[in-house]
Amino acid sequence: MAKKKSIDPLMDKLVSLCKRRGFVFQSSEIYGGLGSCWDYGPLGVELKNNVKRSWWEAMTHRRDDIEGLDAAILMHPKVWEASGHIDGFTDPLVDCKQCKHRFRADEIDLVKCPDCGGELTDPRTFNLMFKTFMGPVEEDASVVYMRPETAQGIYVNFHNVLQPSRQKVPFGIAQIGKAFRNEITPGNFIFRTREFEQMEMQYFVKPADDQKWFDYWKEQRWNWYLELGIRPEKLRWHEHGKDELAHYAKAAYDIEYEFSFGWKEIEGIHNRADFDLARHTEHSGKDLRYFDQAANEKYLPYIIETSAGADRGTLVVLADAFEEEQLEKDTRTVLRLSPKIAPIKAAVFPLVKKEGMPEVALKIYHDLKKHFKVFYDDGGAVGRRYRRMDEAGTPYCITVDGQTLEDDTVTVRERDSMEQTRHKIAELVELIGGKVG
Ligand code: ATP
Repeated sequence: MAKKKSIDPLMDKLVSLCKRRGFVFQSSEIYGGLGSCWDYGPLGVELKNNVKRSWWEAMTHRRDDIEGLDAAILMHPKVWEASGHIDGFTDPLVDCKQCKHRFRADEIDLVKCPDCGGELTDPRTFNLMFKTFMGPVEEDASVVYMRPETAQGIYVNFHNVLQPSRQKVPFGIAQIGKAFRNEITPGNFIFRTREFEQMEMQYFVKPADDQKWFDYWKEQRWNWYLELGIRPEKLRWHEHGKDELAHYAKAAYDIEYEFSFGWKEIEGIHNRADFDLARHTEHSGKDLRYFDQAANEKYLPYIIETSAGADRGTLVVLADAFEEEQLEKDTRTVLRLSPKIAPIKAAVFPLVKKEGMPEVALKIYHDLKKHFKVFYDDGGAVGRRYRRMDEAGTPYCITVDGQTLEDDTVTVRERDSMEQTRHKIAELVELIGGKVG
């Protein structure tokens, strides 16, 4: 169950802003919370959807060579034998004999418990897959697993996608979906949770071309974070050394982000060679080779994988955007989210709740909401309303005032500079729509 642990002051502030503004809540909070499970509130679901949409557009809509897929979470148990997860998806676990806290043996110094100094048990392996039962009988034969990654759904559907799409190698399959891992030490808010979403793409290539495509995808994926507005100095590459490489990987690089709790992986780019298709061929008895018509030969393509987390991606955009800005008289908390992923694109305010201003503001609100997500607010002083929108990351605030009633113009306040300029109501869709697209 939920354990209250202070993460670090900056994360604490972000977590509390997320709760206050309706981005992220702890799961089952009224029952005391469920460890490492989080719910996305009204603004959070918009933000995460915008992150996912941006990925989907970059990886599928803008390309001719990648197809989409949405595979089931529950798969045939043999999939996990073939993939190596039943034998190998384990972490070494140690328990403290005194306080009973659990740790990943590879993350701590094994001399004594880091929380209470107590004696530790010997490490034992712990499989990270969640098990459940299919059908009404709880017996071994009905055990199924909650998928720990979305990738396997892509490999087993390689031929199903290839045939109707008439793609030719090189081509890819992309998928966004939930994955589950019974992590020993989840934490850091939505960074490491037991239920999370992945955005994965598997790119099938000729074995001889693997290095070329590996380099290509590294560059593409790095640039995607820049497109989201992430500061480049907060990103770096981490190359997996020989001792770090997963059993399936020929080469692997992580994109890391510098959080307040350190540099951490946010996405992996892997050269998986022909490991996956070879294993599924062997375990299913189905020939998963690709027939290259031009060369008149059959071969198992190599796979270049890009594997990102939607929740981690959402945490990155939140952490990167969060700022407590020192102003002349006070401090304002602002989320400098890229307008492209901000949950609300513009807020519309009447300066005061009289003289016909609310009616004009509501008309603007209803007109704009046909084009992008807008929010109407007439509660409290306008300065307070601006600050609420700064915390929500809303890039534009439109205010209807006395002058509006005379000349059909409004003020548009820009979140980052706080500058206000006057514009014709008729120009708002073009002015704002062009930037939030
Ligand atoms: P880590 O070393 O952080 O456990 P990993 O190397 O096991 O990660 P992968 O299996 O490569 O991670 O998963 C790909 C991506 O999925 C990660 O880069 C991350 O964005 C996301 N991810 C993995 N595990 C979790 C988790 N428990 N919670 C949230 N996101 C996760």
